[in-house]
Amino acid sequence: MQKKWGASMGQAVRLTYYDNYMPVGDIVTIAICMIMIVLVATSYVKKTRTFSVFISLIICILIAAFADMIQHDWYTYVTDGNYTAVYVFRLIYHIALFSVLIGYVIYIIELMRLEMYRKVPIMITASILYVFMVVLDVIYSVSGKGFTIKADGSYKTGANIFMIGYVCFVSLSLFIMIAYRSKLYKQVLRGFYGTIIIAFMVLCIQSKHGQSSFTVTTFLFPVIGMLYLVHSNPYDMELGSVSARAFEDVIRYNFDKNQDLGTMSLLLTDYDNPNAILPPEVSEAIRKVSADYFTGAVLFQISKGHVLLAAKKSLNKDYENKLDKVLEAFNEYHDRFNLDYKIIIGDSTLEIGVKNEYLDLIRTIQKHIGVNTIHRISKDDVERYKTYKYVLSELADIVRGGNLRDPRVLAYCQPVLNISTGKYDTAEALMRLKLQDTGMVFPDKFIPLAEEYGYIHSLTKIMLQRTCDEIRYLVKENYDVKRISVNVSVLEMRDDNFIADIEKIISDSGIPKEKIAIEITESQNDDDFQITKDKVDRLKDMGIKIYLDDFGTGYSNMERIMELPFDIIKFDRSLVIASSTDNRSEKMVGSLAEMFSGLDYSVLFEGVETEEDEKRCTSQSAAYLQGYKYSKPIPIMDLKNFFSKLEQEDNNA
Ligand code: C2E
Ligand code: CA
Ligand code: CA
Repeated sequence: MQKKWGASMGQAVRLTYYDNYMPVGDIVTIAICMIMIVLVATSYVKKTRTFSVFISLIICILIAAFADMIQHDWYTYVTDGNYTAVYVFRLIYHIALFSVLIGYVIYIIELMRLEMYRKVPIMITASILYVFMVVLDVIYSVSGKGFTIKADGSYKTGANIFMIGYVCFVSLSLFIMIAYRSKLYKQVLRGFYGTIIIAFMVLCIQSKHGQSSFTVTTFLFPVIGMLYLVHSNPYDMELGSVSARAFEDVIRYNFDKNQDLGTMSLLLTDYDNPNAILPPEVSEAIRKVSADYFTGAVLFQISKGHVLLAAKKSLNKDYENKLDKVLEAFNEYHDRFNLDYKIIIGDSTLEIGVKNEYLDLIRTIQKHIGVNTIHRISKDDVERYKTYKYVLSELADIVRGGNLRDPRVLAYCQPVLNISTGKYDTAEALMRLKLQDTGMVFPDKFIPLAEEYGYIHSLTKIMLQRTCDEIRYLVKENYDVKRISVNVSVLEMRDDNFIADIEKIISDSGIPKEKIAIEITESQNDDDFQITKDKVDRLKDMGIKIYLDDFGTGYSNMERIMELPFDIIKFDRSLVIASSTDNRSEKMVGSLAEMFSGLDYSVLFEGVETEEDEKRCTSQSAAYLQGYKYSKPIPIMDLKNFFSKLEQEDNNA
């Protein structure tokens, strides 16, 4: 083939590279790789599972470009006919490119999150292909069947093993992309196809011109696609922040790498809605504080009024100190802007990071802390959060199951003393959960959750079923049971099936409707009131008794209380306590009770704990007493121990 020789001072120096090669392609490739590394280091790329593959790809392309340049350069300097180094760098060049090709395959299957049974055969095929092509390349070179250079510098291309491997790998990648196309977003897939087509076009044009300079460059195209389509995460220019989506990835990535990442969450409660606009001076302050104190900190915008600052502790040796400074600066701004806030401080080593729940944990804590507080996430918070999640998932499962006798829902009961007879003939049903991992769960841990997630009505149905079962049993066994009350949440009355569900359960159990009572609390909400009134009137029409629960804890609008058809007013334990503290309170509670009794309501005192409580309440127009003095809540089956049996005649009457 062509060789040009020049002679200078008796030494033979070749003027051209073989293969029509020019270093421009490799130089551009190296430069672009460097730019990508700079971008990755300064922007906040998404560090997902594919990220390390992505970085390895850039490194392999860099190696290929350098090796390619060196093999060609070395060739021009050889004067003694020994081309071993050229062969070695050519081999490194090929291995690096084969590595890029197998890297594409790994990248695609990781990105698609293929199932194991699909992933494994592909990986085995790709690995065999990789080893086979590398070995074949070596054998062909050594045996002289492939690319060889003679001692005089003339060379022959021989069988192009590399091209065969290239075609095989590209086919494999295309096969995966087509066979499992549903596993990737269409747009991402199209982006990758685009880069492959352009790479192929460049290769064709180059080969038409007998060129080989841009081979490595074409390997770069899909990698540029990856950076843009998968890992890119533009900064918000106003705040200099990154989107929420990136945050969980970052937390998980740092947790996997065992890097301790400190996080600071700031919620400006007044701006906690999608339409809020942060005043520019507030954005400015946030941007400034987040940039000024920590090294390499990143700001994430979770929602309009919620930002999160994350800083690597390894880059901030005096992390705690800097944190204090940030809080100080925050306080100064707070004096100026006077906006309500909730700050939560934590770090990524909390094991919660692995499961993408860190943000959810922060949001949950946010719900439970007061405004203008700074909270540090503790191990206990994480434990509580895990319990919360567990209880929530169990509740969801109970609701999904729809079993009215789900064994995880326990009906407890507190017997109520009827003062006029001195006997227990009514009771209140109280719910508990009994879950595998946590054992008994009390209402304060799950009723608010069930209300928030819309599960409460399903739970009420279960409690009502259990109560009906028990009443049927007590009636059958001739016990004197007037009624048992079931707690109902005002929220569930919005459910269209509310009345029908309750009616069906009671009818199906065959007990008289007046043996069931429901307890409801006052609601402050105007809309709720109309709905409540409507539903309560219908329950009342069925013969169900209605209790007003927790009187004395709310704002107690007398007019509204009168508008609802209550039978019994339950005085909350706080009134029992108040009336024991001073004379005036005692008088007030006494006259309230007297007033209700005068209006034909029955008064029930809740939380009667002592003999003293009992005496006082009895003298205050009480009709019923309930509290630990008589019994703590007990399993509903034990209620019979409190109730007395009816005389035979009574039963017939
Ligand atoms: P509540 O309806 O006011 O129920 C009375 C609560 O006071 C019960 O707590 C009971 O155990 C407790 N208690 C009874 N006697 C005494 C006493 O002498 N001293 C003191 N300090 N406390 C006493 P529990 O069972 O933990 O229930 C708490 C709340 O959870 C209930 O308050 C009710 O609002 C809600 N809840 C319980 N079961 C249900 C249910 O099935 N459905 C709905 N929607 N809410 C329920
Ligand atoms: Ca109650
Ligand atoms: Ca109550």
